[in-house]
Amino acid sequence: MFSKILIANRGEIACRVIETARKMGVATVAVYSDADARAKHVQMADEAVHIGASPVGESYLKGDRIIQAARDTGAQAIHPGYGFLSENPDFVDAVQAAGLTFIGPSADAIRAMGLKDAAKKLMEEAGVPVVPGYHGAEQDADFLAAEADKIGYPVLIKARAGGGGKGMRKIDTPAGFKAGLEGAQREGQASFGDAAVLIEKWITTPRHIEMQVFGDGTRAVHLFERDCSLQRRHQKVIEEAPAPGMTDEMRSAMGAAAVKAAEAIGYSGAGTIEFIVDGSDGLRPDGFWFMEMNTRLQVEHPVTEEITGIDLVEWQLRVASGEPLPAGQDDISITGHAFEARLYAEDASKGFLPATGRLGALQFPDGVRADSGVRAGDEITPFYDPMIAKLITHGPTREVALGQLRRALEQTVVAGSVTNLPFLAALTRHEGFAAGEVDTGLIERDQAALTAIPDAPADVVAIAAIAALGVANGQTGFTLWTPLTHSVTLDDRLVRVTVLGGGDFDVEIDVQNEGQGGQNVPIRGLVTTGSDIRYEGGSYRVACENDIVTVFDRAVPHVFTRIDPLSRAAEAGAGGDVLIAPMPGLIKVVNTEAGATVTQGDALIVMEAMKMEHTLTAPRDGIVAQLAAKPGGQVADGDVLLSLEPMEE
Ligand code: ADP
Repeated sequence: MFSKILIANRGEIACRVIETARKMGVATVAVYSDADARAKHVQMADEAVHIGASPVGESYLKGDRIIQAARDTGAQAIHPGYGFLSENPDFVDAVQAAGLTFIGPSADAIRAMGLKDAAKKLMEEAGVPVVPGYHGAEQDADFLAAEADKIGYPVLIKARAGGGGKGMRKIDTPAGFKAGLEGAQREGQASFGDAAVLIEKWITTPRHIEMQVFGDGTRAVHLFERDCSLQRRHQKVIEEAPAPGMTDEMRSAMGAAAVKAAEAIGYSGAGTIEFIVDGSDGLRPDGFWFMEMNTRLQVEHPVTEEITGIDLVEWQLRVASGEPLPAGQDDISITGHAFEARLYAEDASKGFLPATGRLGALQFPDGVRADSGVRAGDEITPFYDPMIAKLITHGPTREVALGQLRRALEQTVVAGSVTNLPFLAALTRHEGFAAGEVDTGLIERDQAALTAIPDAPADVVAIAAIAALGVANGQTGFTLWTPLTHSVTLDDRLVRVTVLGGGDFDVEIDVQNEGQGGQNVPIRGLVTTGSDIRYEGGSYRVACENDIVTVFDRAVPHVFTRIDPLSRAAEAGAGGDVLIAPMPGLIKVVNTEAGATVTQGDALIVMEAMKMEHTLTAPRDGIVAQLAAKPGGQVADGDVLLSLEPMEE
């Protein structure tokens, strides 16, 4: 076994590898970019080496710097994780040339599977069923159009170098072929520097079922299937194992094909054979076809670990260090059912737009496996994949495991960025999904319902207001002046909270709609514990980060922005010399006089505006030079109410 390895990756997969290495007594070296200087994987590793600037091209894709870091730290092997350099055969060659071990397959095996067309040809020769279509070298547009006619529409055009759902076009009629071809070629050229395509028959009601394989260079075993049919734009969202509706007969046919595929290229390490399955009429042993092989550990490997009880990273280290396969086919069996949901910083209601932000709160329920590369307080930056975590559950049956996933999502607290949490939770409540009727079109068909964000109910708004005002514990935050009623503006709602004491509150929402009258929400018996707020008839989790208040209504986060008219004035005035009226209003209280010594934060003037009272505090320590505000006086927006003596230099 190695004594020290370097992990050429970041985020959750780097953390995942470090965990197993530590368990095995293997020391770890992390690499990191500027943006990741304080990242979780850096903190977890025994050593860490800075390899460059934040863009991946200047750090995580710099193979030479990574190899140098391994040599400098005395690491004997490099684990590539997934993505980045994990399927780059030139990197594998360079690692070996440096006298180090690549924890993964040979460069030749990666090359054999690197291009979809060559891989299909190879698999066809090995007797593995492949998706009917054209995967030859001829790329003339008219020729390809004729091939598409032969295959029969709809067809799928794929960039042969494609990955991550890029460079694919589904074409329904011959009239759309040329435009689709150009699109796929353009994307292939732009993303992979290779415009060549292949054409496949479009499989109706397609299901994506893949087999986990593991080889030692000569022999291979499979660790059963994963169903990854729940996809949006060809990207996986929730994965599970085993596949719903799988029969023993089909599983052995797929397993045998997968092992044949791995052994055909002398595969070593963890790999995945992806099949497309025709799910229109149940699962049949003659209804699956090879799509491609991923020559690395997959994002969704944990569901396989859960149902087999095997640590795939441990197997990777053992086989890479020269041990034989740790188990034979007959030693591997399935226990129960597992799910994985991918939690991303992205806006599902805006076409899954990636998001960024500082995760003010991040908390997963106890007892649930959450593979994550970030902690509360960490930033999701624009430089990398916006994944926050993978939530994995394992139960005796599919129904139990799905229920666990639903509850796990409902109890997850994540604030500071928009996330797909509500979308994932909606999926776990989807009737068809619950019934195991999965296909790759499910999400798109029901997208509107799955991504709709319901309006915040009145009690959620009331709790947000109580949390925003910081009065949940009966404390007012005001020392000199303690009114019973506080007001706060949450986005476009003006909310008034009357503290009755003993955890009782009367909340009036939208008080500015005087004519229609505000909505009254009584909140009684409120108690807070950590981020939990409970009261008679309800309970929520709440996270406050700066001016953002997030109330979790099960897995649906309702996000409110506290609009504070004073904050702008306070910002302008902080550390400055003057107090300025933030809006027109009436001076109610003046708590100081000219010549008085004040301390920063002292409440000096209370004014009433828009039926709310506002306290203006001393911008810094100092002596009051001039006082223009008088109780009962009307002031205009921007009036100087008080000025302090200039600071001595
Ligand atoms: P990538 O390498 O970009 O991920 P894949 O070849 O793995 O591309 O295909 C991605 C997804 O596209 C599959 O999981 C499946 O949902 C869909 N797909 C691929 N080939 C077909 C096909 N022939 N018919 C229908 N859907 C397909």
